[in-house]
Amino acid sequence: MIEIKNLHKSFGKLEVLRGINETIADGEVVSIIGPSGSGKSTFLRCLNLLEEPTEGHILINGEDITDPKHDVNKMRAQVGMVFQRFNLFPNKSVLENITLAPINVLKISKAEAEDRARSLLKTVGLSDKADNYPHSLSGGQQQRVAIARALAMQPRYLLFDEPTSALDPEMVGEVLAVIKGLTQTGMTLVIVTHEMGFAREVSDRVFFIDQGIVMEKGSPEDIFGNPQVDRTKDFLAKVL
Ligand code: ADP
Ligand code: MG
Repeated sequence: MIEIKNLHKSFGKLEVLRGINETIADGEVVSIIGPSGSGKSTFLRCLNLLEEPTEGHILINGEDITDPKHDVNKMRAQVGMVFQRFNLFPNKSVLENITLAPINVLKISKAEAEDRARSLLKTVGLSDKADNYPHSLSGGQQQRVAIARALAMQPRYLLFDEPTSALDPEMVGEVLAVIKGLTQTGMTLVIVTHEMGFAREVSDRVFFIDQGIVMEKGSPEDIFGNPQVDRTKDFLAKVL
């Protein structure tokens, strides 16, 4: 599980996260919604220390990853991330993109890494693209490769930061379908998204983040169907 204790993050004088206390259970699917600039990405990036918290602690499986003595690489192997803008290596083929970290970090053989990569490409519906380079793929295909690349590390936790926001509308569905498939695998997923219908459909819980705190949280039925806090109501009125 992921335990977030009194998480604060400032950039200079700007206090972006102002005390977040949450626990995300193993196997849970949590969606994070909220206005632009409210701290959603910063929150997600703190969970795998892409941003260093200013104050507070984050425990993953009971291990305090914010302890300077903790091994960041070991944690990153367990906590994968998928970004809004895919971030594939442009000069590497699809297969190389997926096998690089397993070979270099997990130290598995090239042959085994390629076997696994091909099977993951099948999972994301891109069996025929192993030898392509990222620029020859559509945005939706690139994002599915990015998901396969994250899965190749066999993470227990996968973080998604607006995985469909950079896509043309006709490609959103194919990426959401892949993520929906992952919700049935028992992996723990934390998904920042503007796709409210999707969040409602796949989440166990929804966090509404506003002004650097979790302003409201609950089941999708509660948050979307019966929000209690005025700011949640205002936000949903604008996006639904
Ligand atoms: P969201 O993902 O909800 O849109 P972010 O977490 O990206 O919000 O950003 C929250 C605030 O923190 C914004 O005001 C943003 O400009 C600021 N911010 C984010 N990252 C940095 C950074 N690396 N340096 C300075 N300010 C940042
Ligand atoms: Mg963001």
